[in-house]
Amino acid sequence: MAISDHVDFNTFMEGVKRRNPYQPEFVQAVQEVAEDIYAFIADKEEYHAQQILRRIAEPDRVVSFRVCWEDDAGHIRVQRGWRVQNNNAIGPYKGGIRFHPSVTESVLKFLAFEQTFKNALTGLPMGGGKGGSNFNPKGKSVREIMRFCQSFMTELYRHIGADVDVPAGDIGVGGREIGFMFGQYKRITNNFTGVLTGKGLEWGGSLIRTEATGYGAVYFLENMLATRADGVKGKVAVISGSGNVATHAAEKIVQLGGKVVTLSDSAGFIHDPDGITQDKIDWVKAHKTHRRGRIEDYCAAFPGTTFHAGKTPWGVPCDLALPCATQNELLGDDARTLVANGCIAVSEGANMPTDLDGVHVFKAARLLYAPGKASNAGGVAVSGLEMSQNSGRRAWSEAELQQMLKDIMAGIHKSCLTWGDQGGGYVDYVKGANIAGFKKVADAMLAFGVV
Ligand code: GLU
Repeated sequence: MAISDHVDFNTFMEGVKRRNPYQPEFVQAVQEVAEDIYAFIADKEEYHAQQILRRIAEPDRVVSFRVCWEDDAGHIRVQRGWRVQNNNAIGPYKGGIRFHPSVTESVLKFLAFEQTFKNALTGLPMGGGKGGSNFNPKGKSVREIMRFCQSFMTELYRHIGADVDVPAGDIGVGGREIGFMFGQYKRITNNFTGVLTGKGLEWGGSLIRTEATGYGAVYFLENMLATRADGVKGKVAVISGSGNVATHAAEKIVQLGGKVVTLSDSAGFIHDPDGITQDKIDWVKAHKTHRRGRIEDYCAAFPGTTFHAGKTPWGVPCDLALPCATQNELLGDDARTLVANGCIAVSEGANMPTDLDGVHVFKAARLLYAPGKASNAGGVAVSGLEMSQNSGRRAWSEAELQQMLKDIMAGIHKSCLTWGDQGGGYVDYVKGANIAGFKKVADAMLAFGVV
């Protein structure tokens, strides 16, 4: 036989690196998954023979396009836009759109790859995709954002569809931007369909979609703590970020009787030793979302609190850590500090916030550590429920949706236990999530043959 189907892990990763030069985030995401999948498929010939992992790590397609728009001063601005359609073996491509200056093809490929496993874990029929642009919404007027969204959709519309690819929000894209993009999609195609999720309630959106990612990350945390007959009540939590995910994670921690002592943004973190109460969270939501302000201003509004410029909050002693900002915001040394300070559980609200070194530290310390693809899946899960409601032309009640979100997070936790229980009271949630997500997508791919 000329070609061996069994490439070993190192050869596989060398190939991924060679084929994706200058794409470190994508390589990192693939490696984190491959570390677990290689052990799982060691004795499963068919996955090797059909090159399943190699195929999942090669996006179905990457669409790159120019986005031109006119700023308020009349200057013509040019940005790059992308849609990465990673895998649609188990449903239409699904995943958010990110507008942030750090967006590159590598970042979107890693996010679309992660999304493939995350969406499989929800149990809903959704494939994996992601899109976005290096457009920086910070400091732009609402009209500028509208014009950018319209221009972005003028290309994107031909690649998406309710049964093809259903984008949503992510960093820099919230309800307002989804509105502008939905309006433009409808204007071009004359179709009112569930082509985007995260829509407003008046025009096909779902209740609790806004809260779902943050709440879901805390439900997952509760499920993890329950394996040790413990709970959030009375625990001190350190949270990074101050956007939609962070503020709703904080809200749920407070509702469950925990104490949140930090929030952050790209300029630094605030420390509030008395605890960030619901009133304070409401202030942050209004300040960050509506006024587009800095988290630093929290200290002027609430005396007795401190701002730490240029720092992340992982040095503040805590029981629980919830990284809810962005990728690679929690590095190996931060993980070592958290472990040394006695942190017992980490639930990721962001996508890949912990770097590979940090992941290895958490695994070695055997603490309760949930990777984002498991713990932050609540957002896309409610997006999936929004799609169902749109298809059925109906709307479920808040109580029904809350229960469905809780059930889905409990289901993901159970899947992680199935594949990640290492015995002796330790669950490797990274391994559990990777294998459960992979298996579902892989088995669907096997059914389709070589396509
Ligand atoms: N951007 C979110 C995520 O990372 C949500 C995606 C969606 O709702 O499609 O999962």
